[in-house]
Amino acid sequence: MTTTNQIQIDLFGPAENMHYRQVTLAAPAANEVQIKHHAIGVNYIDTYHRSGLYPLKLPASIGMEGAGEVIAIGSAVTNFAIGDRVGYCVPPVGSYSEVRNFPADKLIALPESISYDDAASLLLQGMTVQYLIRQIYQVKAGDTILLHAAAGGVGLIACQWLKALGATTIGTVGSEAKAKLAKSYGCDHTILYREENIAQRVKELTDGKGVPVVYDSVGKDTFTASLDCLQPRGLMVTFGNASGPVAPFSPLELASRGSLFITRPTLMSYNSTADEMQKNADDLFQFINTGQIKPNIHQRFDLKDAIVCHQALEARTTTGSTLLIP
Ligand code: NDP
Repeated sequence: MTTTNQIQIDLFGPAENMHYRQVTLAAPAANEVQIKHHAIGVNYIDTYHRSGLYPLKLPASIGMEGAGEVIAIGSAVTNFAIGDRVGYCVPPVGSYSEVRNFPADKLIALPESISYDDAASLLLQGMTVQYLIRQIYQVKAGDTILLHAAAGGVGLIACQWLKALGATTIGTVGSEAKAKLAKSYGCDHTILYREENIAQRVKELTDGKGVPVVYDSVGKDTFTASLDCLQPRGLMVTFGNASGPVAPFSPLELASRGSLFITRPTLMSYNSTADEMQKNADDLFQFINTGQIKPNIHQRFDLKDAIVCHQALEARTTTGSTLLIP
């Protein structure tokens, strides 16, 4: 038994529903390790867990991503040892905590070259970009793609990785400052989607052809415009709900735009085994090690200030990645 400080929610709702509490933590179960976090990654999904859009069993802690050192191991754990440097970015949720227990078969071994802060900022968002552009649709040199929220956490990693692959990125952003930032990370063209017509601008930038794939994490506000940007037989990847969940729609919307495809993926289904997860993480680490993907930690908050952190994220005032420091 040990004690730790952690963020908990008793009820779904706004950021103010989060409480910073001292709790007792049991020893790790047979298949678990106990991790002392050095950095905790903040992701938009944390706001869905907190608000109840993605319901959890209450009371709950939240948080999907952390990096730190193993300080205890369960009796059946053979692949990790005390002192190992590890990170993770899949459930069970509960990373908003100084210390926690976590299943050993969902851990990622961190290379020495990657700091705890960088790991906690890059794992979840980087592994997301990995499956989006390397698995769902294999982006290749010469492709022109549309990426929404290009200056966000997922967005800035995607801008860099797409540039490394030789693709042309059209990125949507909420402000001129974010447009400048996305361009500095490799985004080729930006659209101010609060002012400009997205589909019209995409058609202009692609000589009327449209794009073969759209990565849409904004959801409700951009869904229809995203479909309008696709070439016939193009692929709509709707992977988030920053503006709210997409409303029900008719498959005829896909037919009328030229036999479009649509997928609504999750990180977990593209990283369902320990081997798959480590392989995908190694793909990400390779691009980090060559310097083609650089960490982009733009905000750090103390763990106890999680409320202010979520308020900033939901007010669209953050850029790049955000950390909570225990
Ligand atoms: P971001 O840093 O990208 O923050 C979200 C951004 O969305 C904002 O900064 C804002 O950028 C944009 N946005 C547009 N409309 C709104 C709105 N109404 N309210 C708030 N923000 C809005 O977050 P993350 O990088 O953590 O995640 C990006 C998205 O990817 C999220 O939707 C997340 O759920 C999704 N995701 C999905 C995964 C999956 O496997 N399905 C895995 C990981 C992330 P701007 O001001 O430029 O518009």
